[in-house]
Amino acid sequence: MKLIDGKLISEQIKAEIKAEVAAMIDNGARAPHLAAVLVGDDPASQTYVASKEKNCQSVGITSTLYRLDKSITEKELENTINFLNNDPEIDGFIVQLPLPEQFDEQKIISMINPDKDVDGFHPVNVGKLVLGQDGFVSATPAGIMEMLKRSGIETVGKHCVVIGRSNIVGTPMSILMSRTTNPGNSTVTLCHSKTQNLKEIAASADILIAAIGKPRFVTADMVKEGAVVIDVGIHRLEDSSKQSGFRLVGDVDFDEVSKKASWITPVPGGVGLTTIAALLQNTLKAYKKASL
Ligand code: NAP
Repeated sequence: MKLIDGKLISEQIKAEIKAEVAAMIDNGARAPHLAAVLVGDDPASQTYVASKEKNCQSVGITSTLYRLDKSITEKELENTINFLNNDPEIDGFIVQLPLPEQFDEQKIISMINPDKDVDGFHPVNVGKLVLGQDGFVSATPAGIMEMLKRSGIETVGKHCVVIGRSNIVGTPMSILMSRTTNPGNSTVTLCHSKTQNLKEIAASADILIAAIGKPRFVTADMVKEGAVVIDVGIHRLEDSSKQSGFRLVGDVDFDEVSKKASWITPVPGGVGLTTIAALLQNTLKAYKKASL
């Protein structure tokens, strides 16, 4: 078994971005600028946003956080989005999800200028993904494509099974793997909670991508000997033996599945890190597009 090292791969990507940004600044350009809109005080969202800011700094991307109270109205949020849509100093921005329950997330995402939608969630960018046109690809699947590419994993003609069909992970992942690219050109099966014979389908995968949101759901009997296993899930489980009182696990039972897999991503240290690196790549792309 070989580990797909998210830390190593994300450090490679960030070093490339850092060098490119430094060279542009040396040539007199301003730094790329990513903004994040955080509505409310969800602890996990605060952690994610803080980590994105820290990673921006580490590669020379300016970051600005717009914190909004959880009780704001749709109109107030729309005003912030419009401000960011029109500010030429902002190259890209994200609206951190989940939003408080009074908001229709899809409606809010549709307010973002697609050219600044570095999360790749806007319908225009999702449409471009489906058509194979150049746009922004959702960071988690984009980061997984980097993992497959940089690990030299063969995907052409392979059977790729994606478990989970969310708009931000499973569905874009299945589209990317079925496109005529490399990585890509796989035969893709997209599974979800209504899939029959999930175990058999999963066990027929050469490449198994788990984005289910259930801790250690994928067990060894669902995995073919020699399969490549990508674990998107991230969960905190109570663990009194840890100083923090918890440990992180994925959607895959790593201890057992790693005995069968040829390649596997760990949790932590896997997809979470390449997701952030891909967001930085998208920001640099938005910046370069805006400077044309
Ligand atoms: P989500 O929106 O909750 O979607 C979960 C998907 O799994 C749904 O399509 C659901 O099917 C399917 N599912 C649930 N139970 C199932 C079952 N018993 N059998 C087969 N399919 C089942 O989740 P998400 O946003 O895609 O996230 C998935 C996981 O990845 C979560 O743990 C999340 O925290 C994590 N995540 C990590 C990152 C990262 O950067 N590492 C980024 C995003 C998400 P239905 O459609 O039929 O309901």
